[in-house]
Amino acid sequence: MLNYAKHNYRMTTCGLDKLEILSQGAIFDLTCADDSTHPGNIAKKRDFALGNLGEIYTPKPSSFVPNDSYASIPGVAHVNNCGRPMPVLKVLQTSHCQFNCKYCGFRKDSDFPRESLTSEELANTTFEMSNAGIIEGLFLSSGIGETVRGTMTNIIDTARILRQKYKFEGYIHLKILPGSTVDLIEAAGQFADRLSINMEAPTESALKDMAPNKSIQKAIVDQMQCIETLRRKGRIPRRVGQTTQFVVGGSDDPGANDRALVVAAEYLYRELNFRRVYYSPFNPVIGTPLQDRPAENPRRSYRLYQADRLLALYGFKLDDFIFNDSGRLDLDTDPKELWADAHPEIFPVEITRCEKEQLMRVPGIGPLLAKRIMEARFTGGLKSVDDLNKIGRVAKKIYKYILVNGRKGETEKSPVLKGFEEKQLVLPFGGG
Ligand code: SF4
Repeated sequence: MLNYAKHNYRMTTCGLDKLEILSQGAIFDLTCADDSTHPGNIAKKRDFALGNLGEIYTPKPSSFVPNDSYASIPGVAHVNNCGRPMPVLKVLQTSHCQFNCKYCGFRKDSDFPRESLTSEELANTTFEMSNAGIIEGLFLSSGIGETVRGTMTNIIDTARILRQKYKFEGYIHLKILPGSTVDLIEAAGQFADRLSINMEAPTESALKDMAPNKSIQKAIVDQMQCIETLRRKGRIPRRVGQTTQFVVGGSDDPGANDRALVVAAEYLYRELNFRRVYYSPFNPVIGTPLQDRPAENPRRSYRLYQADRLLALYGFKLDDFIFNDSGRLDLDTDPKELWADAHPEIFPVEITRCEKEQLMRVPGIGPLLAKRIMEARFTGGLKSVDDLNKIGRVAKKIYKYILVNGRKGETEKSPVLKGFEEKQLVLPFGGG
């Protein structure tokens, strides 16, 4: 039994070691939102990636009392909730798994420690931690236990107990296991705020290369389409959005290149109303078939996130992106800047008169600055470059692409990746 003095929290339902093992399996899953910048999570990711699981699983002395930060409580991750860090319990229902995904430490053939929680145990633990003010939500994923149906039923029961027995009103994100049937998906949708199925790779061949037991159409895309159909028919509340995650750099299959990822993301946003797509850079886990594969450069994921935002928020289409012969985005240049430089016939744009859509195509102008420019135009507050600097933070690179009442501003181009090198893990996620 453990005391978390600051929160007056006594862990009564499941032990710390159990929770610690079950939380390890969830740390690479980004689909609930960005927890990358939280120091505790970065340390755990690094340990897991380096295969230091023995260290993590070393039994704690009985006198072990965590310090008063959230980072010391297993499974507590901070996710970005509309710009506010929100603590959630991020955990697996079980770390047993019948599948053999090549990148995963909990694959069937690995001998890592296994644990499970019953639905009552997990619901009670979540409720206790919520009552103690430690968490505001639950992100629940799972390995595939004896059957998909049995494990998915346990996941749904955890959420059902939380909502119905404990009247829990916090955030619940449930993982839909590949191959889940319509009745299970509909039941999960009654209790969740967010559902996600991890696609892992954009094509069947690339997925088979990384996760031989998974089938992209029959076990993943069909389920994603089912969620959206149920939402449209009102059988799942419309507020329940879905997200997914790709493992970037886990396969050399051409079907896993950036072009294929952008094609898949475009489909998910346009056809299935996805809230977010996440791009987790591959990290080798010791003891898996991919342990010797080099870790993916996080800059590749960063460029994919930029392309993703352009698809979801800026009206970009597949043809607007420039890929090299290997289907990769340029690592050194923002894809929006590349597009703008390839279209000299469009620039410079006169920002005192152009349409909002044209503003959004200017490198350095995002939705907020575009809105402020439109407002300033309406009130007569945008007549010169000086006025532009008064209405918001303006990156120097935009001057190359704009005119303000026929006049150009500065032309100095700021380095695209300035600041990125020091903050490689600060990815541009929004709320899940
Ligand atoms: S399904 Fe694959 S990724 Fe998920 S726990 Fe099992 S082996 Fe790991």
